[in-house]
Amino acid sequence: MRTNHERRRAFLYTVYGGAFALLTAVYIGIVTYVTEFDTATGWASALFVLSMLILGGALAWTVKAETSVTAEMLNEIVDRAISGQPRQTGYTESVVSSLEHKVTRYFEMSSTHKQKLDAEKSSIKALISDISHQTKTPLSNIILYSGLLEETPGLSTEARQHAASIRDQSAKLGWLIQSLVNMSRLENGIIAIRDDLHPVIGTITKAVSQVYAGAEQKGIDVRIHCDPGTMARHDPKWTAEALVNLLENAVKYSKPTGGRIDITARANEMFTRIDIADTGIGIAESEWNDIFKRFYRSKETSQYEGVGIGLYLSREILTAQGGYVKVSSTPGVGSVFSVFLPAI
Ligand code: ADP
Repeated sequence: MRTNHERRRAFLYTVYGGAFALLTAVYIGIVTYVTEFDTATGWASALFVLSMLILGGALAWTVKAETSVTAEMLNEIVDRAISGQPRQTGYTESVVSSLEHKVTRYFEMSSTHKQKLDAEKSSIKALISDISHQTKTPLSNIILYSGLLEETPGLSTEARQHAASIRDQSAKLGWLIQSLVNMSRLENGIIAIRDDLHPVIGTITKAVSQVYAGAEQKGIDVRIHCDPGTMARHDPKWTAEALVNLLENAVKYSKPTGGRIDITARANEMFTRIDIADTGIGIAESEWNDIFKRFYRSKETSQYEGVGIGLYLSREILTAQGGYVKVSSTPGVGSVFSVFLPAI
């Protein structure tokens, strides 16, 4: 297959070659006619045309050779700038030297920028692990002591309820801190996601096992439709976390009775698709994009508990693996969240 550049070059060669052949033929014709078919003049003209042809060819060859020398020089300049080697042209007034100066400056600036970014990233990483470590122990203690307080004999019912609230809210705070830590780690590319080919059934069942008790409590019928051989390129641990967020929502936003969640997985040519369909309250089409934004919560769901980062985290996890997630829904009927993971 010829490139555009090659096609243009072939076209120019044909036009110039054709024009030259035409002019030569006309010239020889006129000279031969004017000199009334004089053989000596004919030979002189042929010799003249031949010399012009040789000279033109030599000129074209020289220009081509010069161009490729310049291209090689530019290539060398860029290679040297990338690998941080000393400049090739020195400091002269030539255009090539000025170009080398600019290219070298550009690479110096981008390497300084990269070093700055790396430094920022490692300080964020340190800060995040500090927050995560330093809050873990006090929070576990609050949960433990509020649990003990709740069981203290002779406590009034009201005081017991307060102790239970402290325990629940502390557990939520722990969950929120962990989610924010995960969010920040994902956004800063700190988490190493290992996306090899795995059967999706294991990941789905792992995610379902984490929401099953909650679903059963609400009387929701959860069904998995997945061939054990259905594969996808994904990190089972992180993908299960993304699916848990979607399933928790499916449970949370299901109507009080008679709910149903269907999880269907099938592999297509490029992507393996996992649909999580619920029979819940549904989402208006105008909100389909917004619900994936961080801290976005629909006005319709203000009476449900939540902070609005579950879907954002799920989308981050899936895009980090080369996948994506989308939603379609009918208010009052239910929603389908479709997760797409690379199939190859
Ligand atoms: P949260 O559930 O904590 O509010 P999410 O990021 O998980 O946060 O979801 C964002 C919003 O998307 C929710 O507030 C809710 O309005 C809507 N939503 C998500 N999943 C569903 C669902 N299965 N059915 C109805 N609404 C949903």
